[in-house]
Amino acid sequence: MNLVLVEHADGVATDVSLQALALAAGLGGEVQALLIGPGGSAAADGVPAAVVHVAEHPALGAFAPDAWAAIICGVAERVGATAVVAPGTGPATDAMARAAVRLGEPLATNVSAVTAGTPLSLTRLRWGGSLLEEAELHAGRALLTVAPHAIAGVAAGAPGSVEAFTPELAEADLVVRVRDHVAPPAGGVSLADAKVVVTGGRGVGSAEGFGVIEELAVLLGGAVGCSRAVTMSGWRPHTDQVGQTGNKIAPEIYIACGVSGATQHIAGAKGAKRILAVNTDPDAPIMSIADYAVVGDLHEVVPAVSAELRRRRA
Ligand SMILES: Cc1cc2nc3c(=O)[nH]c(=O)nc-3n(C[C@H](O)[C@H](O)[C@H](O)COP(=O)(O)OP(=O)(O)OC[C@H]3O[C@@H](n4cnc5c(N)ncnc54)[C@H](O)[C@@H]3O)c2cc1C
Repeated sequence: MNLVLVEHADGVATDVSLQALALAAGLGGEVQALLIGPGGSAAADGVPAAVVHVAEHPALGAFAPDAWAAIICGVAERVGATAVVAPGTGPATDAMARAAVRLGEPLATNVSAVTAGTPLSLTRLRWGGSLLEEAELHAGRALLTVAPHAIAGVAAGAPGSVEAFTPELAEADLVVRVRDHVAPPAGGVSLADAKVVVTGGRGVGSAEGFGVIEELAVLLGGAVGCSRAVTMSGWRPHTDQVGQTGNKIAPEIYIACGVSGATQHIAGAKGAKRILAVNTDPDAPIMSIADYAVVGDLHEVVPAVSAELRRRRA
């Protein structure tokens, strides 16, 4: 029997959780699900698992990774799960790492394929998705996270049954918890949903220099992204960063201006259908992976593109 941790938002299971359910189905045997915190009961209605366990507790309003770990371990033990699969998101991975320590079992993260057997054969995404690792997992109870968007999720559907319960939590389980959420600036299109992303790198030169990037993004109905060199310089917030340690995006077109194309940056933009690079250096790494490349100063090229768009729309 395989247990899947299902994250949920606004009363529905997240896409990556449906992908975790699909990965668990590949292990064979019955799949049960675990939802934690407020809104779990509502979201349980769309989770197609034999049994959906919903952990409800007044202290679970804020994410607390040790509390989640305690709940995951408790349910896994109670139902005799041979594997626990979770979405490869920040919070779920945090909780699974803590669960692995409690259970004394290894955790395999970012799994994109699994073949049942002893040991389990896994494919894992490494180095921000630049490398596929073939691995064997020797474990009494396999703990896995699914690489986000690497496989198709199951369709939402009705559960066999729903069992709500109140977990026992120790004071120590609630020491680490989220105290505050900082919302990104309101308005505009989110990086996650944008069909067009216009990104600026160190080549933009300053926070003020992003005016031309913002202007083009607005004209194209897109979102602004940036490289880590930019966030490290304090020109843009980390919420705008694309890459291994930033957002993973999948727009129709990715317009990278003054970005060199470091592996860690491209790790976040791999999902883009097309890449257009604007760079003064024809030998910059991004030029070799771009579908379209303009060799030139972004402060001339980008405003010229915006002006042409405005002229054609006038
Ligand atoms: C563990 C780790 C994680 C990381 N995670 C991330 C991540 O998530 N995201 C990320 O972006 N980076 C990440 N990095 C950093 C990454 O390795 C690079 O250092 C970073 O992406 C470089 O940013 P950049 O391309 O803006 O700057 P640079 O590499 O300095 O490139 C600037 C580019 O701008 C061009 N340019 C200069 N002036 C102009 C102009 N006027 N017009 C047009 N082009 C111009 C230059 O030719 C150059 O190609 C990570 C690094 C590590 C070690």
